[in-house]
Amino acid sequence: MAVDKSQVLEALRAVATPRGVPLTDAKVLSEIAVSDGKVFFSVNVDANEARAWEDVRARAEAAARAVPGVTAVLVALTAERRPGAAPAPRSPSQGVKPVAQHRPHGAGAESPMAGQAPIPGIGAIIAVASGKGGVGKSTTAINLALSLRDLGLRVGLLDADIYGPSVPRLAGSRDKPAVDDKKKMIPIKRFGLPLMSIGFLVEEETAMVWRGPMVMSAVRQMLWDVAWGELDVLVVDMPPGTGDAQLTLAQQVPLKGAVIVSTPQDLALIDARRGIAMFDKVNVPTLGVIENMSYFQCPHCGTRSDIFGHGGARHEAERLKVPFLGEIPLHMSIRTASDAGTPVVESEPNGPHAAIYRSIAEQIKARIASPSSVTA
Ligand code: ADP
Repeated sequence: MAVDKSQVLEALRAVATPRGVPLTDAKVLSEIAVSDGKVFFSVNVDANEARAWEDVRARAEAAARAVPGVTAVLVALTAERRPGAAPAPRSPSQGVKPVAQHRPHGAGAESPMAGQAPIPGIGAIIAVASGKGGVGKSTTAINLALSLRDLGLRVGLLDADIYGPSVPRLAGSRDKPAVDDKKKMIPIKRFGLPLMSIGFLVEEETAMVWRGPMVMSAVRQMLWDVAWGELDVLVVDMPPGTGDAQLTLAQQVPLKGAVIVSTPQDLALIDARRGIAMFDKVNVPTLGVIENMSYFQCPHCGTRSDIFGHGGARHEAERLKVPFLGEIPLHMSIRTASDAGTPVVESEPNGPHAAIYRSIAEQIKARIASPSSVTA
């Protein structure tokens, strides 16, 4: 049954708010995206009111879910702080927390890690990040998740690249998450990995203009309101870049460490450097740097050509005193496997590319197992 936006609005009209008017009249609703039975919108309030509105968010979600034909709902509570306003209180555990502002790191500043609640059942959360888009961050994230799985770990993958969610494509799944009796979304299971992505809730092509607080709010829900089960590692595919949204995310998600993906070109390396600096700023250790598309490997003759230059990321890692984790070639089969929805580690587990990802995963596994070996 096709769902219409007006039906969702009608359902939201019945949701009361602390302002004494129905939700639809409270001037807090974003555009409502409805696509294929999946509904997404945000409730935008001032950070100081956020606590009072968490309940409204939950009721809005329930109301939208009750609309016939709706299969999945994601309602983000975005808490914006007006310049000069007092800091919002932090809620102690679950739910959408007010978004913390970026505090300078240094004497007198509260530790950015202070308000981060660990996620029950999840051993370590690692970010796969890049200073800019298109360097192969998502491809690397899913192949690393699969390699960590092959090393015997229980692994999940969260696609937090809200601007361009690609995990549904990489995993070849368009399934919609169901909701369990505790109202948690049940992640999509592929290749033995629980997966969550905003792309399972809205179309990948849907152009979404996300402001920083919305990104955090949606990511918080995909972290905390998902029945992940027991995991050793949750790999988070971060949105590319080093802007406010990424910084807040790095600050608010209880990350064990970050892996930076770069290509060898100078420009990409400048961005990678910014990425490392960003994680540094919020006390998240860089587990290492990966050079993706490091060299071109001819699919026919296997000849190697350093078309982008080569070794830049290794030198940069040495210079910045962070570990260098490895080089992944630019190879047709890595791209075609991803496009076909079965990443190369899954489609060619005994091939040379899977071996490279595995060797990187081994280093990551060792680093997250031993806190002392994590280089900050
Ligand atoms: P990002 O997440 O950084 O935007 P993606 O992982 O979506 O980048 O990759 C961008 C494109 O590059 C995709 O088409 C992907 O298949 C391709 N790609 C990524 N890494 C490689 C590689 N090592 N060899 C060949 N193609 C790659």
